[in-house]
Amino acid sequence: MINAKMTELGKVRSVIREIFEYGNKRRAEIGAENVLDFSLGNPSIPAPEKVREIMARLVTETDPVKLHGYTSAQGDAGVRKAISDSITERFGVAASPDLIYMTCGAAASLTISLTALVNDGDEVIALAPFFPEYRVFAEKAGANFKVVKCSDGDFQIDFCALENAINENTKAIIVNSPNNPTGVVLSEETIVKLSDLLNKKQAEFGTSIYIICDEPYRELVYGMEVPYIPAFYDNTIVCYSFSKSLSLPGERIGYIFVSPKTDNPTDIYAAVCGAGRALGFVCAPSLLQYTVKECIGLTADIEVYKKNRDILYNALCEYGYKCAKPDGAFYLFMKSPESDANAFCERAKKYELLLVPSDSFGYEGYVRISYCVSEKQILKSLPAFKALMEEYK
Ligand code: PLP
Repeated sequence: MINAKMTELGKVRSVIREIFEYGNKRRAEIGAENVLDFSLGNPSIPAPEKVREIMARLVTETDPVKLHGYTSAQGDAGVRKAISDSITERFGVAASPDLIYMTCGAAASLTISLTALVNDGDEVIALAPFFPEYRVFAEKAGANFKVVKCSDGDFQIDFCALENAINENTKAIIVNSPNNPTGVVLSEETIVKLSDLLNKKQAEFGTSIYIICDEPYRELVYGMEVPYIPAFYDNTIVCYSFSKSLSLPGERIGYIFVSPKTDNPTDIYAAVCGAGRALGFVCAPSLLQYTVKECIGLTADIEVYKKNRDILYNALCEYGYKCAKPDGAFYLFMKSPESDANAFCERAKKYELLLVPSDSFGYEGYVRISYCVSEKQILKSLPAFKALMEEYK
């Protein structure tokens, strides 16, 4: 008898993947240029030229035995030092290479962090709408997954609902800003309020409640500052990824940063190393480690996303759709004109518009539009969105 839960996870494709596969079918049938696919969060802009130059130089000029060899399980010491220095320089918070763990992207950072923190019976809170894999990662780590909905419309934290959800079993809350799927950025005021609430609850229950700060979209913001949570709340673990900032999602590189202000950083870091070991996530790809060492702080040309956002957001509002204005990431969360977002997405297919219904993000009645596509596709989609809305008038 093999593991039934894993078999189910392997067989049941995510809704996003289902839609993407449907898109592949339509692309084969009617030509790629006629399919208005807004399903996947795959960066549409290339990695900066500098990244490619560094990789090429590393491949041609570095001793191949070193370049392609194992690094330390937690990552090369020089790479971790460069990341730790940059955290201190950019955000003004203390960091140490001994509290950085290199990973294969944010997905690995999250599974490792959750596994490191959670004991059976602990609760992990996600703020809905959330990246659907949180549930998979948290439950595999042994947690009871608890969902707290954000306020409808602006998708900021509903503090009343959050306070009611926290109890003596709460081990962690996952915070994702800029957010997938809403694009909303949590303000400094919100982060301060969140810190105050968690500090109050820690004191009340005599427990530690950690923020797992999932930030693959940190640099993808349009005229906003994203508060760095370790500067506001001590018990924070940052899960970072270069997938979106450097347009390198297929290369699988990111890191975990355990704040030195957590209540027991040495043991938490040991648990991170232990979880990495138990999950087989050791020695993140060495070529990528050495590459990111030289491009920390560099970002792909996000003007392209900003332009897409502006065109799409303005047009959708004009046609009568309602969306929270996204300040970051490359997603737009739009209210479905009918209460059943699945039915709306089915109707959209008539216009070859592929949208993701929000149910799998833990929030009903909306659709996610990934605008990390070409401007040409955005422009081509506008009449389709307009005609679709006309059906509801
Ligand atoms: N977290 C969020 C919110 C995401 O949107 C994604 C990917 O889309 C991930 C984590 C996983 O990122 P990575 O490709 O770095 O594993």
